[in-house]
Amino acid sequence: MKRSELVPEPGEGTMESGEETMERNELALEVIRRLKDAYPGADCTLEYDQAWKLLVSVRLAAQCTDARVNVVVKELFERFPGVDALAQASVEEIEQIVKPCGLGHSKARDISACMRMLKERFGGKVPDDFDALLSLPGVGRKSANLIMGDVFGKPAIVTDTHCIRLSGRIGLVDEGLKDPAKVEKALWKIIPPEEGNDFCHRLVLHGRAVCTARTAPYCDQCVLSDICRYAQSGADRHLQKTDA
Ligand code: SF4
Repeated sequence: MKRSELVPEPGEGTMESGEETMERNELALEVIRRLKDAYPGADCTLEYDQAWKLLVSVRLAAQCTDARVNVVVKELFERFPGVDALAQASVEEIEQIVKPCGLGHSKARDISACMRMLKERFGGKVPDDFDALLSLPGVGRKSANLIMGDVFGKPAIVTDTHCIRLSGRIGLVDEGLKDPAKVEKALWKIIPPEEGNDFCHRLVLHGRAVCTARTAPYCDQCVLSDICRYAQSGADRHLQKTDA
């Protein structure tokens, strides 16, 4: 799916015809407003000071916590302090350092190939083009969106596990929609492009603190409980039981 097919042009707006989409637009704006109040800061929890480092950290973050990645990359970047140095490292050398993040071999292989391609095809610089980012080994839509948003300040929807879970529960996308590209497409229609990147960071913060995956969500402590589909359907069920 080409990015140009998803991201509205400036001024094009995000509204679609149809009552359901209009309701979702309004819901999305209210969710954005409340999450901004609840989480004024919306920074990426991966620590980086250069774009190529974020590229590496994002690959390591698959099935690993950002906190662990932040620790592991300290040694990696000390030993290989630039794109050239990391491109010249062997996969085994990288794997030795990154294996605490899990999937050490495949992550090391992708990082090595990615750094070599950055060096050979992009002059050692991370490209600010979505399709060019997608061409890099180990970089999928989620990572490419994160780089576009965090590094280049461009519109981005990062459909990680928190974004997919919360969007479904809240009712921003169809219930049960799990495919990241389909969730991304659905969100592009209702989230103002300039809000997308920070909104997704806030979904991560909310997903960790309140709308958790491993336990039942803490709806009684949630700022969205009166507008959230999941919480409201629970309230409906409770009312029906009480009425019976
Ligand atoms: S009300 Fe419950 S399900 Fe809805 S976003 Fe909040 S914690 Fe998640």
